Parts: sequence; C-alpha cells; structure tokens
Amino acid sequence: MDEEVTQTLRNYVGGSFVEHGGTEWMDVFEPATGVRFARLPLSGSHDVDAAVEAARAAQPGWGSLSMGDRAGWLDKIADSLESSFDEIAELESRDTGKPISLARAVDANRSVANFRFFAGLIREQEQETFEMDDATNYVVNRPVGVGALITPWNLPLYLLSWKVAPAIGMGNTVVCKPSELTPMTADLLMRVIDGVGLPAGVVNLVHGDGSGAGSPLVAHPGIDLVSFTGGTATGEKVAASAAPAFKKLSLELGGKNSSIVFADCDMEKTVAGVVRSGFLNQGQVCLCGSRVLVEESVYSEFEGAFVEAVEQMRIGDPADDSTDLGALISKEHLQKVQSYIDLAIEEGGTILTGGTPCLPSGFEGGNWMAPTVIAGLAPESRCSTEEIFGPVVTLHSFKSEEEAVEIANGTRYGLAGSVWTTDMGKGKRVSEAMETGMVWVNTWLHRDLRVPFGGVKDSGVGREGGRWSLGFFSEAMNVCLKHD
Ligand code: NAD
Repeated sequence: MDEEVTQTLRNYVGGSFVEHGGTEWMDVFEPATGVRFARLPLSGSHDVDAAVEAARAAQPGWGSLSMGDRAGWLDKIADSLESSFDEIAELESRDTGKPISLARAVDANRSVANFRFFAGLIREQEQETFEMDDATNYVVNRPVGVGALITPWNLPLYLLSWKVAPAIGMGNTVVCKPSELTPMTADLLMRVIDGVGLPAGVVNLVHGDGSGAGSPLVAHPGIDLVSFTGGTATGEKVAASAAPAFKKLSLELGGKNSSIVFADCDMEKTVAGVVRSGFLNQGQVCLCGSRVLVEESVYSEFEGAFVEAVEQMRIGDPADDSTDLGALISKEHLQKVQSYIDLAIEEGGTILTGGTPCLPSGFEGGNWMAPTVIAGLAPESRCSTEEIFGPVVTLHSFKSEEEAVEIANGTRYGLAGSVWTTDMGKGKRVSEAMETGMVWVNTWLHRDLRVPFGGVKDSGVGREGGRWSLGFFSEAMNVCLKHD
C-alpha cells in the first residue's frame, strides 16, 4: 500500500465492520492535491447479498417499534453526529475538494439537521381517519421493507442522511451504497450508528462502484425500494432494473437550471445571488443555475457586474476559511468540464472569464478549473442545454417574459430555477410557467426541509422532503371498520 494511504475502509453489515469477499480495492484521492489517502473495498454481489440478508433479518423487529421509539434513535444519531461536526466538515472538505466553510455550513449542518428534522416530523404524525355514515377508515403507514439508498459525490453525507433518516424512521431497514469517489463520511456515519448501538442490521453499507455494487443492489430480489440520487444516465439503468420487480422507486437526477434576471431586479442582490447559484460547490450542485437569462435592456450592465463578481472569488486551499472555490471532484470530471468549454468555443461562444484549469500554488496535482463565464451561445446549443456540473455558466439575453420561459423550458431537464424581479406578480407567474420541480424568487437554495424536493422531465421521478419522504418510505394501508 502507498505510504500516504492512511485509512482502509470496510463495509458495515449486520452491526459489524467486515472485510469484503473479494480482493479488489479502489484508491480514494484528495481532489485538491491528487494525493491518495484512503482505499475502499470494491464490493461485489456476495457482499451485497450479505448486507441485504442482514437488513431483511432486522426489518421485522425494527418495523414493529413505535414511531416514537424510532424517532428517539434518530435523535441519538443526530446528537452523536453533532459531536463529530468538525470531523464531518474536515472529511467532507478533504474528500470532495470543497471549501471547509461550505462543508461546515452546508454538509455538516444539514447532515445533523436531517436526522433531527425527521425525528420531529415522525413524532408529529397523527393517524388519518375518514368517517363514513356507517364506517370509519383509518390509515396505517407501514414500512415498505428493505431499501437500497444510492448517493452521489457532490453532497455525500448531506444526501445520504437525507435518505437514511426518513427510511429507518418509517421502519424500513436499509443498505447504503455511497459514491465510490467520496466514501469517507458514509464510513463516519456507520461509526456513529455503531457507537449509539442502533440494532444490528437496521443500517448496512457496502462500498464499491456502480457496476460491482450499485447494480446488483438495485437488482437484488430482497430489495423493496430504491432511492437513487445521481446522474440521469445512471437513473435510466436503475429504473430499468427496478421496474420489472415493481420496486418502489425515487429518482433524483441531473439538472440544467435557469436563473431568469428581469430588468426590474435589485441588481446588486441579484448579481450576488446568481453568482452563488452558479458557482456554489464549484457548480457541482444539481440545483446550480448554470444558464443565466437576462432581460435585454440590462444585459450589458448585468454581464459586467457578474464577470467582475466571479473574478473576485477566491480559489485555493479548501482547508482555508477564506476560500470560496475549491477543486473539482476528479481528473475525469475536470476533463469533462474542459471538453464542454472547448465545445462552447466551437459552438460560437465567447469566454468572458476563466476557461482554463487554474492550479493554485502547492496544489498542482489537483483538479482545478477557473470559474468560467461564456456569452454568445444559442440557448439551444449543447453547452447551454446539457448538464456540465462544473464552474461554468452561460449568459443569454431575452426580450419578453414569454421568451424567457421558452428558453428556460428548452432543455430535457426540469429540476430547479430562480427568478429575479421586484414584481412579485411576475415572479409567481414566471415561476409557475417553468417546467421544474422547484423555483426560488429573489433567492436560491433557500431550503425548508418540509417542502417537496424533486424534478420533472429527465430530472427525476417522485418527490422526497418532509411528508413526501415519509410517504415514499412507507406504504399507506387503509383499514375500513364497518359500524354495527
Ligand atoms: P452517478 O450517476 O455517476 O453515480 C451516483 C451513484 O450511483 C454512485 O454511488 C454510483 O456508484 C452509483 N451507480 C453508478 N452506476 C450504477 C448502476 N448501474 N446501478 C446502481 N448504482 C450505480 O452520479 P455522480 O457523478 O456521482 O453524481 C453527479 C450527478 O448527480 C449529477 O448528474 C447531479 O445532477 C446528480 N445529482 C442530483 C441531485 C438531485 O437531487 N436531483 C442531487 C445531487 C446530485
């Protein structure tokens, strides 16, 4: 093993950290430096079988606990995670290349909040009843069974905890398959779960890649539901594998989201908000507004102020508190982002800023791309309609509300969007005309955990969040009692 590989991860099955059955391993790299610092087992079908078996064995006992008891376990996990707050932020920043300030404010914070929020929501649940003249109906929310929870690399623990908390809260047991690129905080969650003494088999985890571990997990006959967050192309495979067995399926997939800027916006706040929406986490958030549509009369003013603000962002050491932008997740991803910038030039675009890798001093081995702003592309160009998932924003102008909506809806995706205007009537009208699951007006990524989250078109199927998560992770059974 290389000297710098300091940690060897293991699967977590039936309440124990276990060796995988095979002999293959995968290295984990720091995106900022390119240094290998850990390795994970490349699990296969046998490991998946063992994890599903452990989850199936634990499900009846766990499912028979009261909602209150299970909420108590979620609170214990939240408390323990909170005591590891700094470790979560540091691991997440190291594993993903994101700035430590972001890892604290978003990743560590939300991972704790997810467990706490679902504990509270589950406690608040009341039994629904429907009275008839001669009968009473009541609804029992039963566990679905064993869930496969599959997550991507951009918000590793944030998204995993978003699934684990409601899934086990509603009485399911689960097998997690985190991204092979960012396994560190999933391992931390298993250590927390182990430490609080959650009954064995309720939460299991197999490390590995999509074909070796993810695919057999989704296809496993012992899996009853699949909650998948990741790319649209992978989502297609997951759906095709889960559908013949009628597994309950939630797909949170890719996006190409528009920020629509009207001439009557508050320009200063809008520029700041649209920069944040374009570049947070190096543009690697599914909700990022990577196509910015600006009303023609203020286009020049906006373009100047936007480029100036982008150029002021500080790129560098993710561990430095003052850093705004860190590294991209992998060499392959950097190449993909670069290839879209090259394509933009072929498609007739003009690079207003960025466009090339930038290697902060001391980080020459990492995956760094300067924040990039491109103008002059047709709204239907590939660069303006395909998901790049990096620090690349395209600017477009529009003449009317109708044209703005038409451009915004002109992609295969429909995840999120934002509208910037001081006219709330227009803000609501335009929002409601957009083919997306979520729209923010004069803000972006302003999250209330109670609201529905998910996309339309090729951005996904189903909704999670608040009571939508509780609905997805349970089966509503109606019991009708005929009166005498
Ligand atoms: P990905 O689809 O490559 O991988 C996601 C997960 O699926 C990983 O754990 C991977 O190992 C696993 N996987 C790969 N092939 C599989 C298969 N055949 N069967 C089962 N599992 C398989 O996505 P990524 O590159 O990790 O993440 C980036 C993508 O995720 C972007 O498209 C982004 O928009 C999307 N995303 C969406 C949301 C959302 O809420 N809609 C949130 C975050 C990220």
